Amino acid sequence: MDARVCEHAGPTLLLKAHRAAYKVRAFMEQVTIIGTGCAGLTAALYTARANLNPLVLTGTMPGGLLTTTSVVENFPGFPEGIDGYELMTRMQKQAERFGARVRFGTVEKVELGSKPLRLTVDGEQVETQALIIATGAGHRHLGLPSEEKLEKKGVTYCATCDGALPMFRNKPLVVVGGGDSACEEALYLTRFGSIVYLVHRRDQLRASKIMAERVLGNPKIKPVWDSVVTEVLDVAKDTVTGVRLKNVKTQAESVLDCAGVFVAIGHAPNTAIFQGQLDMDDNGYLITRQGTATRVPGVFAAGDCVDHVYRQAITAAGQGCAAAIDAERYLAALAR
Ligand SMILES: Cc1cc2nc3c(=O)[nH]c(=O)nc-3n(C[C@H](O)[C@H](O)[C@H](O)COP(=O)(O)OP(=O)(O)OC[C@H]3O[C@@H](n4cnc5c(N)ncnc54)[C@H](O)[C@@H]3O)c2cc1C
Repeated sequence: MDARVCEHAGPTLLLKAHRAAYKVRAFMEQVTIIGTGCAGLTAALYTARANLNPLVLTGTMPGGLLTTTSVVENFPGFPEGIDGYELMTRMQKQAERFGARVRFGTVEKVELGSKPLRLTVDGEQVETQALIIATGAGHRHLGLPSEEKLEKKGVTYCATCDGALPMFRNKPLVVVGGGDSACEEALYLTRFGSIVYLVHRRDQLRASKIMAERVLGNPKIKPVWDSVVTEVLDVAKDTVTGVRLKNVKTQAESVLDCAGVFVAIGHAPNTAIFQGQLDMDDNGYLITRQGTATRVPGVFAAGDCVDHVYRQAITAAGQGCAAAIDAERYLAALAR
């Protein structure tokens, strides 16, 4: 094995891992972890402390999704809040302290029918006895250039994470979407916003009946039916001041003033490479049983690639811990 994946220079240089290129040592891994978000790095910490010397592959986003946010206020242990990048850098440092080997590399292909399990990492082969999948999930975006430019400047994809920020307090807010997630986001945001506009492309919600009733009965939520966001305003001011809307039935355009845009049009788990080899639900989330086990012995999954309900840093970390313990027990049983 001679995988061209990168061993970066140190934990404080997390994102610089992109630029370096080192070799992975040529022997079969006991446990390989795909992903360095909260789930992957917690699994790395636990497997490292169990002397399993884990290989941890970063993918294209070292540190995972949390590195894209500024302040994390709901991760226990940080009463003042902590910068997302800083939190992930600390998690990596903690795992490395016990021997985790974090390498830059993207898994392109897996062969889970063989023993040992085989991965193709940037064109090179890695063999491993156990595998922990912690590849996360991405938020679906509206696909607007203005949305991209104003991300973290009023455009966000997580009300639980960002709703309480001062910039949104007592201000009009917009939630885009019509499913259960959008309804949950809207209800949550009523605690902070002066009013919450729920912009939906249809004339009724897709959400479950009970959730739809709650939303429609809430005096702080105002649905905006048959409408899509065509632009987030105002890129020139470098902050969100409103949205431009188009009514899909009448084609009429309008502008709605707001301080925040919460996009809640669904998530897409990063699980395409496991298609056909592991069980997934209709949306591509991995299905686990008896803890974090997948249907393939020795393959475990944790975090947002499995969890479409909670999707929080702390729940991902908890599942990463569970996957590490499951993998450790699997390897111990193999050795007996
Ligand atoms: C803007 C924003 C703000 C947030 N704020 C908060 C907050 O304040 N509090 C909170 O609790 N939660 C917050 N969240 C949610 C939190 O970030 C996620 O729940 C958490 O990151 C999930 O962790 P994870 O390890 O499952 O996945 P991720 O963090 O998504 O990590 C996935 C990892 O897998 C890697 N990967 C993917 N595919 C491959 C591959 N093929 N090969 C190798 N590696 C791969 C990626 O590069 C990445 O390292 C926020 C999310 C966003 C987007």
